[in-house]
Amino acid sequence: MTNIYKTKLEGEKKLLEDELSELGKVDKAGHWEATPEDEMNSQEVPDEGDMAERAEDYEERSIKLNVLEARLSDINKALEKIDGENYGICEVCGKEIETDRLEVNPAARTCKECMEKIV
Ligand SMILES: [Zn+2]
Repeated sequence: MTNIYKTKLEGEKKLLEDELSELGKVDKAGHWEATPEDEMNSQEVPDEGDMAERAEDYEERSIKLNVLEARLSDINKALEKIDGENYGICEVCGKEIETDRLEVNPAARTCKECMEKIV
């Protein structure tokens, strides 16, 4: 049964990595960083307005990248659990995570009850 989730997780991982590589690159420590705009588009000479806009773009990309990276890290942890055969166990109470919750979010780390407690 975990095979379905593994396929889902691997599919989502691939998509996330594609999105991440459009926004930035991995540094030596394995963390994703947004690519500065001037690296992406170096042939143009920017004026001040451009510079401000680019800084804003960079900021936006960094935020988006952090969200995607956090999601990717959850997925990697879920994949590790599948290999370690303790997948689908709530990290807080140790009970099995509801199947419908895993359907919606195969990278879920807690059961519904504990999810509400954490948030
Ligand atoms: Zn729980």
